[in-house]
Amino acid sequence: MQLYSINTGHFKLDGGAMFGVVPKSIWNKINPADENNMCSWAMRCLLVQDGNRLILIDNGMGNKQDDKFFGYYYLHGNDTLDKSLAKHGFHRDDITDVFLTHLHFDHCGGSIIYNSDRTKLTPAFKNATYWTHPKHWDWAINPNPREKASFLKENILPIQESGQLKFIDSTQGLIPGFKIQEVFGHTEAMMLPIIQYKNTTIAFMADLIPSAGHIPIPYVMGYDMRPLNTLQEKEMMLKQALENNYVLFFEHDPSIECCTLNRTERGIRMDKQFDLIEL
Ligand SMILES: [Zn+2]
Repeated sequence: MQLYSINTGHFKLDGGAMFGVVPKSIWNKINPADENNMCSWAMRCLLVQDGNRLILIDNGMGNKQDDKFFGYYYLHGNDTLDKSLAKHGFHRDDITDVFLTHLHFDHCGGSIIYNSDRTKLTPAFKNATYWTHPKHWDWAINPNPREKASFLKENILPIQESGQLKFIDSTQGLIPGFKIQEVFGHTEAMMLPIIQYKNTTIAFMADLIPSAGHIPIPYVMGYDMRPLNTLQEKEMMLKQALENNYVLFFEHDPSIECCTLNRTERGIRMDKQFDLIEL
């Protein structure tokens, strides 16, 4: 098995929303905000090559939205999904599986594109099976008012209409060495891939611990649906990761791809930071 980090670009989110109850005087030191209080975040996906399978975990926000949408989220930087795939010799048509941790736009927006004359929405990965959690799917297609702005119909429904949608949960692995951990604090049934790789275990953090700055337990995003569950799930995950020497992979950290953990007197914290390629 080979893993590749695939950056699909950076975007901006309000720093206060990203750090919940933590005051700006603290979070601004690690993630400095711009004049509109927005901080820059990566949309970093993971590509898993195993035998004849080429699995893409999440796919960023895509580029099909209108100017108004990008006016809120400031897609920026030089990285795109296609460029990042090409860097490793791959094309989007090579992807056999798209694994979606959850269906918020910054994780699944790249799933669907417009056809050439912008009249029809169609899967961006024409040869792939798209995997989602059945409970999360139901939650996303009937969104609650708080989460509605994150579940965009145009990212979600065309997957089903294409016939390329399949369901998976934590009772199944996608391939040997690829397990799924379900968490419920950020949204209903988000799936975290836990992958055996080069004598270690990579834990894809998605939005449970979106960046290295979110490792301390109370640093929970304002976006979370059930923040008290997130606290428990983070504690459980950090303990499991420390005991088993996991490498954490961050989807949203603006610069840190991976880290290991150690125990300090203040709690579990980042030990070493590095890029996936250094493993
Ligand atoms: Zn996210």
